[in-house]
Amino acid sequence: MLGATACKRHPIDAVIVGSGITSLVCAVLLARDGRKVLVLEHEGRLGRCIRTDELMLPGLRHDTLYTAHPLFLVGPVYAALKEGLQSAGLIYCNTGAGTRKLLKQP
Ligand SMILES: Cc1cc2nc3c(=O)[nH]c(=O)nc-3n(C[C@H](O)[C@H](O)[C@H](O)COP(=O)(O)OP(=O)(O)OC[C@H]3O[C@@H](n4cnc5c(N)ncnc54)[C@H](O)[C@@H]3O)c2cc1C
Repeated sequence: MLGATACKRHPIDAVIVGSGITSLVCAVLLARDGRKVLVLEHEGRLGRCIRTDELMLPGLRHDTLYTAHPLFLVGPVYAALKEGLQSAGLIYCNTGAGTRKLLKQP
């Protein structure tokens, strides 16, 4: 927790609670606009559903939850952040094969 003195020394324009994709996108957009942003996360690591973890085998790193970002990829935020994300190492690996879910007919 930041005390009053720390807040005076490092003035903050916005406090964002949580570090999931929604919070991180919000924080980046504000920071790019020149705002000082503080992101507070109560877990030991940032990212929640967009994390990459070694859950199955040592060295096998994969998405923890969030695996496909179709709406993000076609939206204005990705267009705005794409260059920065790619230069930070983000690569989307897509397959030519579609995925389908089979449902039982009622
Ligand atoms: C199993 C599963 C699979 C999914 N797969 C997909 C997918 O493939 N494609 C897709 O588009 N969507 C998928 N989703 C949905 C997607 O993960 C969510 O819509 C998205 O992650 C929501 O992001 P968020 O930033 O709002 O929340 P979250 O990612 O949940 O992040 C919230 C963060 O806030 C923190 N927090 C909460 N309360 C506090 C507090 N009081 N103080 C400090 N920190 C706090 C949490 O610890 C967490 O880090 C999936 C969801 C699940 C559960």
